[in-house]
Amino acid sequence: MTELIHCEKCEFLLYYGETISERLYLGGLDEEKVLQRYKNHCPNCGNELNLKTVKISFKTW
Ligand SMILES: [Zn+2]
Repeated sequence: MTELIHCEKCEFLLYYGETISERLYLGGLDEEKVLQRYKNHCPNCGNELNLKTVKISFKTW
């Protein structure tokens, strides 16, 4: 599965790739670490990023 994480406010694409939970064994990546890469702020609109202010979606293709 493919996982997408968007900023809820401006729809900026923050993450696109393999399902994060399926990659845990690859080095402990999780959604919160993805947001930390952006210093917990959306680079597009400045919205504070946490698991409640992003949209996480999955696609099966
Ligand atoms: Zn944003």
